[in-house]
Amino acid sequence: MSIIEVTDLNLFYGERQALFNVNISIEDKSITALIGPSGCGKSTFLRTLNRMNDMIPGVTITGTVEVAGNNIYEDNIDVEVLRKNIGMVFQQPNPFPKSIYDNIAFGPRLHGITNRSELDGIVETSLKAAVLWDEVKDVLKKPAYSLSGGQQQRLCIARALAVNPQILLMDEPTSALDPISTAKIEELLVELKKKYTIVIVTHNMQQAARISGVTAFFLNGYLIESGETDKIFTAP
Ligand code: ADP
Ligand code: ADP
Repeated sequence: MSIIEVTDLNLFYGERQALFNVNISIEDKSITALIGPSGCGKSTFLRTLNRMNDMIPGVTITGTVEVAGNNIYEDNIDVEVLRKNIGMVFQQPNPFPKSIYDNIAFGPRLHGITNRSELDGIVETSLKAAVLWDEVKDVLKKPAYSLSGGQQQRLCIARALAVNPQILLMDEPTSALDPISTAKIEELLVELKKKYTIVIVTHNMQQAARISGVTAFFLNGYLIESGETDKIFTAP
């Protein structure tokens, strides 16, 4: 079953067109890798899926993006709710300047959860899902910045999971990390795929081959090809 349905999508930064007639259907509980050279529109496309481009002045979009059957560009869409359902993780881990605990509790609190034991439960479940719990359970009050880069990135994944999203968008989430941290996150993503739909920008073809079910190639703003990863690559 498809959860994301993109139809005839065009995006302009002012006069300049950055995405040309993109069409893709993304299956629920899958990993889709977006690859292609620098500047070809991968991040721009990723940001269309939770309307992150809305924050950039002068952006116009034509076409439709349906998530779970709803066109997310309709006027009545609550963008806050949309972004709760579609979490995002960036290349540079960006924990808030708060404790580990408060990073995870931030989203749930924003959505009205104040009960301490309920928050404790969400923090534990989210950190376990991001395979970080064992490393941080005794230091939850420490600043997030005291963690290593790889741990911070898993914290950012846990923070996204804490508000129960269906979809996780990831923009080169391992590019700033060492190989061991990268391997941990790849393993984590394959596990998360059982419950979430993941769309990941990567410039690492081996990474796409290792973790994704579908690979989509972008070039100069066009989605030039997409298909099952194991038919496109021979896994390394
Ligand atoms: P990729 O993620 O594949 O490296 P991007 O989506 O970042 O590519 O960029 C696609 C094109 O859009 C590039 O030509 C880039 O310069 C342009 N672009 C990206 N962000 C902006 C922006 N905020 N304003 C204007 N142009 C942008
Ligand atoms: P990038 O790594 O792409 O530069 P930013 O630092 O601009 O990322 O932040 C990316 C996203 O993280 C923001 O759009 C927002 O959703 C979230 N974010 C970052 N800092 C905060 C904050 N202090 N409070 C709430 N949300 C934040």
